[in-house]
Amino acid sequence: MDYNRILTEIAVEVEPLRTVGQQASYIPALARVNPDRFGICLLTTDGGGAELGDVGERFSIQSVTKVFSLSMALSLKGEALWERVGKEPSGSAFNSLIQLELDHGIPRNPFINAGAIVVADVLLSELSDPEGEYIDFIRRISGDPTVGYDREVAASERTTGYVNAAIANMLKYYGNLQNDIEDVLRFYFLQCSVKMDCRQLAQSFLPFADRNREFSFGGVSLTYSQVKRINAIMQTCGFYNDAGEYSYLVGLPGKSGVGGGIAAVYPGRYAVATWSPRLNEKGNSVMGMKALELLTSYTHESIF
Ligand code: GLU
Repeated sequence: MDYNRILTEIAVEVEPLRTVGQQASYIPALARVNPDRFGICLLTTDGGGAELGDVGERFSIQSVTKVFSLSMALSLKGEALWERVGKEPSGSAFNSLIQLELDHGIPRNPFINAGAIVVADVLLSELSDPEGEYIDFIRRISGDPTVGYDREVAASERTTGYVNAAIANMLKYYGNLQNDIEDVLRFYFLQCSVKMDCRQLAQSFLPFADRNREFSFGGVSLTYSQVKRINAIMQTCGFYNDAGEYSYLVGLPGKSGVGGGIAAVYPGRYAVATWSPRLNEKGNSVMGMKALELLTSYTHESIF
């Protein structure tokens, strides 16, 4: 497959979308990012790949981090994790509070904020150095020891994080948070603040596309079956209330973040990361979604 040629064609097709949509502006650090960026990096499981555009510029991965936190929590807790968080698509916004009351404090899945806040609580309880071990895992899986947190982003998330604070309070009320609310929120926002570029993100998702699927990075070891299940949750829950549309258009397990990043995998073949800060009304990158739609259309490589 000539991925270089295909990415070049895709770049031409998505170009008219460069000024469509709005970047996240709920905190100053995200509002300051140049919104007119676009990068795509594809890495194949046999060591090949192609890239184009702003692939070396780091951005806030935001909710893409939820794949890393779920991986750590599954490795630590196994199936017991599902006693505290579900695995059903939510059909609701990333920060929806309503379902939490209906479901008595059990979030629908680990890829909406409520679920990721429970996962952060699990990691706080299980790890002796949560901050250090979390970033160490991402450094190992990305193969880059320079990946780090953006503490300015994390701190300003807290000052405007009223809904996330409400979610955490609700979880505590229902007995689904073991640690102090502020400690859990601080750790959750720190996880979201990790900065990576498209190359590092594609590299980090390659183990999820690997033919064997099982992997071990530092203290985080997952079996074939666990990686398969994380991919399944990416497919059904990775794009909030846009998950159906994303499945319909793209057809690859993936996860988006409000920083404009998307990481996706074609199991057995490749991992791909896109970044473009302008978002649609559901919080997903406009150029990224279109680029992935074209990628699966042009390559005929989709899980469907
Ligand atoms: N830090 C963001 C929040 O919790 C992440 C949202 C996202 O990327 O979708 O609001």
